[in-house]
Order: sequence, then structure tokens, then C-alpha cells
Amino acid sequence: MKRFGESAPRVTAYVALGANLGDARATVQAAVRDLNHLPHTALLRASSLYQTAPIDSTGPDYINAVAAISTGLSSHALLAALQSMEQAAGRLRPYQNAPRTLDLDILLFGDDMVQTPDLVIPHPRMGQRAFVLVPLAEVAPELVSTAQRLAVSAQAILKL
Ligand code: ADP
Ligand code: MG
Repeated sequence: MKRFGESAPRVTAYVALGANLGDARATVQAAVRDLNHLPHTALLRASSLYQTAPIDSTGPDYINAVAAISTGLSSHALLAALQSMEQAAGRLRPYQNAPRTLDLDILLFGDDMVQTPDLVIPHPRMGQRAFVLVPLAEVAPELVSTAQRLAVSAQAILKL
């Protein structure tokens, strides 16, 4: 476990990772490792990798995972750091829901509720997506209810 300054408040946050362009598997694995190198941040747990067909998107199948981190960053600073990682992985945004080299979304940030133009937490669509709920349940089973799992049980998801 990394050590932090005494005063840094620490929060457990959950990050969803997704990729469906290039070597998506290697990109997601590298991104999980890179989370541990963000400032004031340590990786606590990472789910298995999962393969899913695109939903509201196009292109090859996605590789998805969820990571639990402990961070002293604010939620907005974490978003900025994740967006820098997306840029470094060559992320382009030619149109909404376009295929992507790397997508990093904040699912939960402690108990925080955030409602700003550029950041909404809990992530508004997490409850409808098996590619989020299944890996999240692997790292934090207490956060995903049976009803939520049932709601996405028709969506095909392959554990790699
Ligand atoms: P997607 O919604 O498919 O993940 P993008 O990754 O392009 O699409 O994100 C679009 C915008 O969503 C980002 O510019 C970011 O400001 C905003 N956003 C809002 N809430 C969140 C969140 N919880 N995690 C990540 N991005 C978020
Ligand atoms: Mg995103």
C-alpha cells in the first residue's frame, strides 16, 4: 500500500474501463496498472477482463473492467487525470458513442453525489449496463443488488 501525507482525505472510488479499438485487452490492462501511478492514488482491486458486444456503439467487441482505487484527489481532479490517460491512449471523440481506444468513467466516488455539467456521480447509466455491473460486483459485491443483476441478465458478457 502506498503512503500518503497525513492530511490527505482518502476516498474509495470505482472506475469503469472500456476499449474496443487497437489492442483493447492490452490497453485496459495497462490502464489498470496506470491508475496506481496517478498522484495520491493507489489501486485497491481490479476485476477480471470481460468481453461484451457494443451497446449504443459500433465496431469490435469491447474489453471492460472495473477498478477500485483509493484516492486523495477530488472527483474533478480524478476526472481530469482519467481524461489525460484517455488522451495518452489516443482517444478521439469524432461523434457520440464512437468506438474508443480507452474510456474511463467514474462510477462512484465514496458517497459523493456530483451533479455538474462535466461530471455526474453516481454514473447515470451504470445501472443499465452488464459491462459495468458484472465487473463491479466482482470487486465490490455489496454495491450491486440482486435486482440490478437481474435487470441486465439478458446482456451477453464473457469473462476472459
Ligand atoms: P461516454 O459517456 O460514452 O463515456 P465520453 O467518455 O466521451 O462518453 O464522456 C463524455 C463526457 O462525460 C466527458 O467529457 C465527461 O465530462 C462527462 N462525464 C460526466 N460524468 C462522468 C463520469 N462519472 N465519469 C466520466 N465522465 C463523465
Ligand atoms: Mg467516458
